[in-house]
Amino acid sequence: MLSIYNSLSKQKEEFIPLNPDHVKFYSCGPTVYNKIHIGNARAFISADLLSKVLKGIYPKVTYVSNITDIDDKIIKAAKEENLTIKELTKKYFDLYMQDIGLIGINPPDIQPFATNFITEMIEYIERLISLEKAYEIDGNVLFRVNAFKNYGCLSGRKIDEQEHGKRVEIESYKENENDFTLWKPSQKDEPGWDSPWGYGRPGWHLECSVMSEITLDIPFDIHGGGNDLKFPHHENEIAQSCACNGLDNARDFAKYWVHNGFLNLESEKMSKSLGNVIYIEDLIKEYKGNHIRLALLSTQYRQPIPWSKTLLDQAKTISNKISDFIDKNEFVEPKFIASTNIAAALFDDLNTPKAIRIMQDFVQDSKFIKDEVATFKYIFEGSTQDTTIDKNTIQEIEKLINERNQARIDGDYVLADKIRDKLSKMNVSIKDVDGKTEWKI
Ligand code: AMP
Ligand code: ZN
Repeated sequence: MLSIYNSLSKQKEEFIPLNPDHVKFYSCGPTVYNKIHIGNARAFISADLLSKVLKGIYPKVTYVSNITDIDDKIIKAAKEENLTIKELTKKYFDLYMQDIGLIGINPPDIQPFATNFITEMIEYIERLISLEKAYEIDGNVLFRVNAFKNYGCLSGRKIDEQEHGKRVEIESYKENENDFTLWKPSQKDEPGWDSPWGYGRPGWHLECSVMSEITLDIPFDIHGGGNDLKFPHHENEIAQSCACNGLDNARDFAKYWVHNGFLNLESEKMSKSLGNVIYIEDLIKEYKGNHIRLALLSTQYRQPIPWSKTLLDQAKTISNKISDFIDKNEFVEPKFIASTNIAAALFDDLNTPKAIRIMQDFVQDSKFIKDEVATFKYIFEGSTQDTTIDKNTIQEIEKLINERNQARIDGDYVLADKIRDKLSKMNVSIKDVDGKTEWKI
């Protein structure tokens, strides 16, 4: 039913799970040294979309997304902000969770933190060394790319091609310029861990090989991330995981490799140095979470997004039109229904623009089809709450709703009505649906 573009075969393939009773999906998560920007959000919303579709189809899906909480950028940022590594990564992890929540991205089922797996990473390196797939030199441990014959299978880069014509000098300690770091020494004042190769820290690629294998077991179904991660990150992950487990084929590590296209500003590159980086906390002052969500999903996940205010304003108009139409009719619980036209569009390599068009046509023709609406809401209305409300207000509203529910359980309808009145004075309207209370401002 679902077909998905596999970056390994470079074609759309029918998705056939390794085990339909338990589908397993890993996607690379954030390095928590900075607020996520709208480009990162595109990567996370693409993974969230795939996990939502999978969860709509299969009875059990585990979606893992790692948190990189140690690397050079983190060390530098911690110095600049005068925070410890733990304080810095906690701060940006919390902001990441808040930001993804604002645009209706569900938290992944498992979020392994790299620093919780250092012992396992050291063991993994020891295994690679004993298999002669890695070597140590002066406190550095490097992966020997020549020891994995399919190196380049994902990105199409060949080791020879890369060496050819390159004039940069190979770092003296490397056997081959493509050999990459598994472990490197830390200065005394830098974060690090004791290891058989001295005080140091792991290279970035290693954590995903180790944590995906521990959390999901290999092989698992899908591995995802942004296009930029194909090389070197995913190529190196494949090399490590295959070499460590005696595998030749990347599919025996993860069967489908899925990559999202890049988001850039319409006219220029988005970068800190140009001072034009767009953050969710700024957009949310003017737009609802669902407007931003629809803007991000109005392009199919593999295509580039030229981000602009016009795109966002168009998404706002479309989103408002659709939700007005939906709200005018009877309440429908969000639910993925595989037999709908909207689901059919999503089954075709997650064709979200088509799914949105289908819903727009229903609105145009005033056709309220419950199953289509349920499926649309499930995918596109991730955040039902108005996220321009501050956290304290949300807490206050939820507290009142809980008190009202308790009052109803206790049969105290006078109190329940009083609380409803109070909420209504706060401009909060509530709806009781299947034992749950939905609210809206
Ligand atoms: P990072 O925190 O830099 O490791 O990035 C987290 C995720 O965001 C990765 O999957 C990246 O590929 C992805 N990513 C970074 N920048 C963009 C962008 N401009 N557009 C789409 N995805 C991006
Ligand atoms: Zn990764």
